[in-house]
Amino acid sequence: MKHFKPIKTDRIYEKVLDQLKGAILTSRFKPGEKLPSERELCEEFQVSRGVIREAIRALELRGFVLIRQGPAGGAYVTDLGFNQVGNAFLDLFKTNKLSMKDIAQVRMHVEPEVARLAAKHFDPSQMDMLLNLEKEEHVDYVSYEDRIDRLTRVHKALAKICGNPFFEAIVRSMLLLTAEVVLKVASNHDLLHGPGEHLRVIQAVISRNEEEAAREMAEHLRQFSQNLIEMEKTYRRQIVQE
Ligand SMILES: [Zn+2]
Repeated sequence: MKHFKPIKTDRIYEKVLDQLKGAILTSRFKPGEKLPSERELCEEFQVSRGVIREAIRALELRGFVLIRQGPAGGAYVTDLGFNQVGNAFLDLFKTNKLSMKDIAQVRMHVEPEVARLAAKHFDPSQMDMLLNLEKEEHVDYVSYEDRIDRLTRVHKALAKICGNPFFEAIVRSMLLLTAEVVLKVASNHDLLHGPGEHLRVIQAVISRNEEEAAREMAEHLRQFSQNLIEMEKTYRRQIVQE
């Protein structure tokens, strides 16, 4: 007769891993930041150094941290928490299990809501950052890739301001998929981003007008979704030829 489950001592590192992952996913440790040292973690978790090392290795394997050697060495938090989600979707897209039409449909639901939440949670201290991101879209760009990257920054910033990390992960994944197509099918990106469309969204967010922010974002997405769906056809043809 059994009353209790045996304690598996080799599972302790997983408990440490879960807590560390949780701390990264909830941004208690942000990309670029260093995790506390092995010694500090040993003290806080009250476990041995071996357990901490195993947990850190597992974190590295899952792409959450990058181990750097040397005097300033340690476990540095990467931005891969988001990239992992995005890469999983990217695999589905590349193998034709997801279409741009599917993505456009989800973006149409998610991004206006993200813009609405961003307007709700907007703090005046974020105003300069948002306006600067928009301004930087208009400076001379060094490459097509640079241009696309600049055009995604406003979307990423709004997703961050919206205050829901899951929305942020979804938005970033969708941007990754969109960039995959847009970068392969180099075309005139001005077709996708009409002049002033981002600015109208940003202004609505800054004035904390939730409904208008959502409406402007929906309008912006409507403009370029059809173009993306058209671009996907070229993308698929190119993939077959590669
Ligand atoms: Zn945009």
